[in-house]
Amino acid sequence: MAHNYDPTNIFARILRGEIPAKTILETAHTLVFRDITPQAPDHVLVIPKGAYASFDHFGSEASEAEIVDFYRTAAKICEMLGASLATGGLGYRAITNAGDQGGQEVPHYHLHIVAGCPLGRMLEKR
Ligand code: AMP
Repeated sequence: MAHNYDPTNIFARILRGEIPAKTILETAHTLVFRDITPQAPDHVLVIPKGAYASFDHFGSEASEAEIVDFYRTAAKICEMLGASLATGGLGYRAITNAGDQGGQEVPHYHLHIVAGCPLGRMLEKR
């Protein structure tokens, strides 16, 4: 089955400049901005500029240039936040949610990078 993408989602609107975002880094294929409801002292969202709805949509259909740019940018953000282990940081969590059971609210692929305090266990049982 094909991947669908809804161009009315809020991150698509940010990419079109229709609503503002607290951008901290922009590259040819990737945008990074602060989450509007941070769950930790640092909480940023890394999104591709292309129209991909989820992690697996991006992984299966994005170009190599988009994929490399996305993960290099995500790595750079970990360093910029002071969270990268390579530069003496204390770590971070990278999370992506997909679909209803994954708890995805915005149907444009995004990686949450959360850092700045102890983050506890990965999953809460429901
Ligand atoms: P998810 O549940 O993985 O789809 O996460 C969506 C995230 O987008 C949530 O953490 C929201 O707080 C965040 N969010 C929603 N609208 C905005 C916005 N306009 N600017 C920044 N972050 C947003």
